[in-house]
Amino acid sequence: MIKIHNLGFPRLGPNRELKFALERYWRGDIDPQALEAVAAQIRSDNWRLQANNGIDYIPVGDFSLYDTVLDTSVLLGVIPERFEAGPARGTLSNYFRMARGQAQDGKQYRALEMTKWFDTNYHFLVPELQPRQKFKLTGDKLFREVEQLQALGFQAKPVLLGPVTWLWLAKGMGADDKLMLLESLLAVYAQILNHLADLGVHWMQLDEPLLVLDLPVEWKNAIEMSYHRLHNNRVKILLATYFGGLAENTSFACKLPVAGLHIDLIRAPEQLTPVLDNFPAHKVLSLGLIDGRNIWRSDLRQALATVAQVQQRFQGELWLAPSCSLLHVPVDLDKETGLDPTVITWLAFARQKLTELKVLRLALEEGEAAVAQELQASDEAVRSKRTSPLIHNAATQSRLNSITADMLQRQNPYERRKKRQQESLPLPLFPTTTIGSFPQTQDIRKLRQDYKKSLITPADYTEAMQSQIRYCIEEQEKLGLDVFVHGEAERNDMVEYFGEQLQGFVFTGYGWVQSYGSRCVKPPIIYGDISRPKAMTPAWISYAQSLTDKPVKGMLTGPVTILNWSFVRNDQDRAVTARQLALALRDEVQDLEQAGVKIIQIDEAALREGLPLRRSAWQAYLDWATGAFRLTAGGVNDATQIHTHMCYSEFNDIVDAIADMDADVITIETSRSNMELLEAFVDFHYPNDIGPGVYDIHSPNIPETGQIVALLKQAKDRINADQLWVNPDCGLKTRTWQEVRPALQNMVQAAAILRTESMAVK
Ligand code: GLN
Ligand code: ZN
Repeated sequence: MIKIHNLGFPRLGPNRELKFALERYWRGDIDPQALEAVAAQIRSDNWRLQANNGIDYIPVGDFSLYDTVLDTSVLLGVIPERFEAGPARGTLSNYFRMARGQAQDGKQYRALEMTKWFDTNYHFLVPELQPRQKFKLTGDKLFREVEQLQALGFQAKPVLLGPVTWLWLAKGMGADDKLMLLESLLAVYAQILNHLADLGVHWMQLDEPLLVLDLPVEWKNAIEMSYHRLHNNRVKILLATYFGGLAENTSFACKLPVAGLHIDLIRAPEQLTPVLDNFPAHKVLSLGLIDGRNIWRSDLRQALATVAQVQQRFQGELWLAPSCSLLHVPVDLDKETGLDPTVITWLAFARQKLTELKVLRLALEEGEAAVAQELQASDEAVRSKRTSPLIHNAATQSRLNSITADMLQRQNPYERRKKRQQESLPLPLFPTTTIGSFPQTQDIRKLRQDYKKSLITPADYTEAMQSQIRYCIEEQEKLGLDVFVHGEAERNDMVEYFGEQLQGFVFTGYGWVQSYGSRCVKPPIIYGDISRPKAMTPAWISYAQSLTDKPVKGMLTGPVTILNWSFVRNDQDRAVTARQLALALRDEVQDLEQAGVKIIQIDEAALREGLPLRRSAWQAYLDWATGAFRLTAGGVNDATQIHTHMCYSEFNDIVDAIADMDADVITIETSRSNMELLEAFVDFHYPNDIGPGVYDIHSPNIPETGQIVALLKQAKDRINADQLWVNPDCGLKTRTWQEVRPALQNMVQAAAILRTESMAVK
């Protein structure tokens, strides 16, 4: 008998109920009981939904008020000392203090660090270890939820982050010291297992996505020892791996003393054969057949064929599941009433994915005739997606085929271009600029909303936006910046703005996915070949340029960033989609140049986050990603200056790829590290210009001139003065004008001081 199960379900609720309840609670509008009531409702709705789809083992413990990694840390009693005084352990107030750095008493604390969960856009709170870290089973959240689920009469399968991945993700000590903690950590996990056994739990899922990474041998040993130690006769362990394949860890993972193993066959279908070669018949094999990371409807016929193929070689017990937790997809497609009706037939969100599982099981148990209608709908979706004119654009295809090598590079090397640019753009030493956006005020937001709802005419909208641009230009004149921007008032979001003007994208109404805590994003869906019906930005930039003699930068989002922040096609390589985006943006770059724009910035804020989980796959990614950037930028004259901007700071391991992009100027985030990050560029002898961010825009604090001068001097010790630009870390849209004005004033003043000093030296 085939069983179906789920690894985790979105926890904010179909209408983001949890988000709104959390925000009300944080504002003090509702009490903990009211928050818990909303949470309990979401949990039971999710459980019932899964039960109604026949899910045999329903995950519990996948719900969280903020983050499940934090929940795990709390369960293990890993609560840094600074959270010991004040609100009591175990209280909600203390929990949110760790997550958000704010307590109900209004005091500020240093929150736990947040970082991305593997290669997803979900952010977790990093466990923080301290010297002589002790572990102690703390709180009863997991156990209480198990009981709640059991009370509804369902089979609970508790889900918990496995000990080794938890430890791997923790910070505060080196790897060796961390591994010394394993023994005492496992003692608590063993206690948890026993406790669950007492509650009548038969199966539990321990997530060890660590197994899909390049694993140092000590960590492999740690896994082996952990699962020997946790072997428990009362609770069976399903070891869950996802986001990639086991590769060289395959035979090792198959031999671990656990009762079951889950593998991701969406990200890594190639691992099926090696797993079958190694998998013992007495264990449960869980096949991740439904895509938990993307929004496409499954090809059920193909999934059934995979199961049939497995059954020929494997006689043991089979379970079917999504590839990973459904946390990474929106909740319910049925809410989408505004989407193209054909496109809708290609999609499946979390709820629909559960139904797919149910259909698969029915087909396997009662024969395909029992689900003839569902299979036919799936076939039809596959067929229509393969042939639909909505997806396939002959013009885009033929352009793709005619990309030549010289389209991927500028006409001349950087030194030549630099001369030409100096002639056409007389700029002082240490030119000052900003990253693109200026404060997005209430007025601006309202304007865009009114326009979207057709409450104002296009002409009125244009005029209102132009007056916003005028304001930005005047402010920049007063500040005395050297290179201006138009302020990006017309953009709600740096990806959505372009996606909405390109063919090949759809936007959902409710396709929210949790990013962290109560925060959600609504990624665009790239479903078809990309094309650009008309120019997107020149009118705004030209208008801005008409108001000033200073150069105004044209401002675009790069192809890799658009790709990495969208749901992408599953019928073509990401590299190809990136190239299609690049072609559309290349036309935009050339239109800007035609319109007389001398500096064009192509933001690649998310280039780094697309890096594959395994090192061995990095180079291939970097090659096509930087290629897409060069295809975007490569069509301009030497005199046109191409900038790029990146919102992060770890460059050491990818600096050659950054150099490969060959942007004339790159602006990066560095202020928080005291320019130390520039070392990567020094060691590499990075040839082009760099604008290391001189102040942190995430903080409302106004940087002092002296502080900026000091940072610039540190930068100057590392990089030639004539390579240096002066700019903030990132765009200013989240700040107010009251913060931005004095900050930029000080920045401009700091640049002036450096100029005077370097003249004196000469
Ligand atoms: N040009 C964009 C802005 O200034 C860049 C944003 C980003 O890097 N995230 O808002
Ligand atoms: Zn940025």
